[in-house]
Amino acid sequence: MSNKLGLKNFRDGRNRSVLKDVAMKIRIEKAQCTGNARCHAVAEHLYPLDDAGYIAIEGFDVPPGEEALARRGARACPERIIFVEDDKA
Ligand code: SF4
Repeated sequence: MSNKLGLKNFRDGRNRSVLKDVAMKIRIEKAQCTGNARCHAVAEHLYPLDDAGYIAIEGFDVPPGEEALARRGARACPERIIFVEDDKA
């Protein structure tokens, strides 16, 4: 498992960058969310909501193979507050 900096902890205690494995990130301007759940409707596991129905996270590393779904969720946001970043594709 890697941390937010893209560093993976190995058994010998060393950290190594695994950023090359991160193909894409999503950043969300959470404070601007209006809670219409369009992102969640596209991919509820990528775009979780809080108990009030607003987006619960400020972003995530897109798991390999889920890039298209993450993009669809971002495009579904009518507020345009979901941004695709670090896309190496
Ligand atoms: S689609 Fe946009 S405004 Fe709607 S819940 Fe998701 S992040 Fe919030």
